[in-house]
Amino acid sequence: MGESGPEDCPVCRKPVTESLWADEHWRVDPIGTDSGLPAAVMLQPRGHHDLADLPAERSAELGPMLRRAERAVRAVDGVARVHINRWGDTSAHLHFWLLARPAGLLQLHGTFLPLWEELLPRVPDAERREAHRRIAAALATEGGTAHAT
Ligand SMILES: [Zn+2]
Repeated sequence: MGESGPEDCPVCRKPVTESLWADEHWRVDPIGTDSGLPAAVMLQPRGHHDLADLPAERSAELGPMLRRAERAVRAVDGVARVHINRWGDTSAHLHFWLLARPAGLLQLHGTFLPLWEELLPRVPDAERREAHRRIAAALATEGGTAHAT
């Protein structure tokens, strides 16, 4: 997606106000609206860069952004760990999947989490909206704009 340019890219075409949080260079978006995880979000630069061609400024921000995003997801109730995955397929944007492992479900450690997530009971919409609000607020404490309020 988006390989031919920003005009055909679903990420670039999606208004930043639909993200949970964004600043000038990064955005965090929810992944889907139907999940069994306490939170599932995606961190990605707003520009078309992959890891190999990430500009030096964005590379310097990447570690702090991953730390911020993980801390923000851990601010959600019932999160034991945050799994950060980078598979790199299907997008012109470097993107990291942050998947919250529910507390108490040790059988979902490691790679079992994305494989078995679909079998978990769905998180109610109100609980999901509250998780998004908390993530956005936590990210905004260090800058940028929270859009999930
Ligand atoms: Zn794009």
